Amino acid sequence: MAANNFTQGICDELYNMISSGEVVYEVREKLKNVTAELEMGQINIAEFDHSAVIADKYGQLIYDYFLIALHRCGLTKINGHPDTEPQRMFRCDCCGRIYHYSESTCFTGNYFNEFDVRFAYGSPFDESYISFTLCEICLFNLLRQFKHQPTDDDGQNMVKQFDKYRKDYYRELENLERE
Ligand SMILES: [Zn+2]
Repeated sequence: MAANNFTQGICDELYNMISSGEVVYEVREKLKNVTAELEMGQINIAEFDHSAVIADKYGQLIYDYFLIALHRCGLTKINGHPDTEPQRMFRCDCCGRIYHYSESTCFTGNYFNEFDVRFAYGSPFDESYISFTLCEICLFNLLRQFKHQPTDDDGQNMVKQFDKYRKDYYRELENLERE
């Protein structure tokens, strides 16, 4: 059974995320396989209504990426099943601010950035891998402490730019609850 337009839209979004490098390396292949199964109708899309089932079956990260794709297709849930109440998607590991899809009136989720560190040979942490998320407020608080602060493509100091935007662009992020 081929995917219907609804499912195909979600699959296309997932493939975009995979090919753009947005999906973390660890689950890229797995997500590609799950997407292919979904596309071929080997997974019942309705199953994705049950977050616990999917997270258990494929892992929370796979399910989170699925929800992001769903969100980008303009959807927050599939069949209105109570289990599909909007999921928590973003949390800053520094300040604990959290962003829920239910608050998706703007692009607040885009103010959260994920960072990956893979420790290399010679480090006592060789082979270790860590991943964490920072909201832009915490990111720039960190960058502010750098002796050499990063510049963007135009050579602009990013911390100075942030200070310029701080008052007008960060209210929604600032007011998020923390956990
Ligand atoms: Zn933060």
